[in-house]
Amino acid sequence: GQCITHCPVGALRERDDTERVFDAIADPDTTVVVQIAPAVRAAWGEPLGLSHDEATVELLAACLKQLGVDYVFDTSFSADLTIMEEGSELLRNVAEHPGELPMFTSCCPGWVRYCKAHHPEMVDHLSTSKSPGQMFGAVTKSYFAEQAGIDPHKIFSVEIMPCLAKKSEVDIPAMSDACGDPDVDVSLTVRELDRMIKAGMVVPQQLEEVELDDPLGTYTGAGVIFGATGGVMEAALRTAHAIATGREADADAFKDVRGQDGWKEAAFDLGGTPVRVAVAHGLGNAEKLIQAVNNGDATYDFIEVMACPGGCVGGGGQPIHDGEERAEERGEVLWELDREMPLRRSHENPQIKAVYDEFFGEPLSEKAEELLHTDHHAWKMPTEA
Ligand code: SF4
Repeated sequence: GQCITHCPVGALRERDDTERVFDAIADPDTTVVVQIAPAVRAAWGEPLGLSHDEATVELLAACLKQLGVDYVFDTSFSADLTIMEEGSELLRNVAEHPGELPMFTSCCPGWVRYCKAHHPEMVDHLSTSKSPGQMFGAVTKSYFAEQAGIDPHKIFSVEIMPCLAKKSEVDIPAMSDACGDPDVDVSLTVRELDRMIKAGMVVPQQLEEVELDDPLGTYTGAGVIFGATGGVMEAALRTAHAIATGREADADAFKDVRGQDGWKEAAFDLGGTPVRVAVAHGLGNAEKLIQAVNNGDATYDFIEVMACPGGCVGGGGQPIHDGEERAEERGEVLWELDREMPLRRSHENPQIKAVYDEFFGEPLSEKAEELLHTDHHAWKMPTEA
């Protein structure tokens, strides 16, 4: 990961996919669609001399438009979609297989790869929901293409991620449509994004913020917190509680899973069903947790695992500051954004409601299973990014 950028003689260069994006932008027949992951907004401005308050996602959208990108959307939208699918999966599992082994989140490809390599016995317990980035790509080349009247084969789908493992994830053959067209064509790290902004002579300080595009730019606080440890769990519980009870819990009712402890646990009542949850970040903590589950020392229904300490805000594709770890500070940016959002539960997102009404029907429908879920056994372990 990060150490290759510090090679003293520059003999090791980190992978750079920015040319592919510049080429797609230069092609008049191609529609370039970019999605920005939640954790990116907490870090993209750091190497450009912008404070957290200045480096908004709307200013980043202005930079991308200046570079010639056609549509700028927000992965937080599909984080909300992931929650609809994963929350429904959790409730189905708890109802159909009470007390059996837990369901693990699957939105972190670093964790999925670790699980497949070191704990094949747990692969059946990974949620089948694709990661928000992949779901976004699948929706872009189906629902969005249909709505906008664009041939999906002429869409070049780019994700900006805090992550190196995502570069391998987009190449997994199963992460594509029926004709083999990948959900996401290129995954860029935040460092590559910042290089593109500099190479394109874009000066963010001289630009005005622009709104993200419709229809995939609307998101809730639940989608934003995906980038911080505990965020996926908390977002899922907000929605699972509403589905199970028909009532809204306070948006902060599940905050016991926040914080920097490497292994957190809590128990909640979801409409009469007790649900025990755990959150681990950093693979060392995940390993300890799995061993405890395997030994029978711990029992959970739902477990969030993020490979990077602090979650994606501490991801290997974020800007690097020698000797400094900024995950906790960046995570606070996301929790603060969540507190300020008018909508803080994924199922309240009007565009999520629309995408189900107009396209998928309901969570776990046949179409949703086809486009938004994956079979973790169907692909071999990808090689390192
Ligand atoms: Fe990627 Fe790290 Fe986030 Fe996992 S936790 S998705 S490896 S940035």
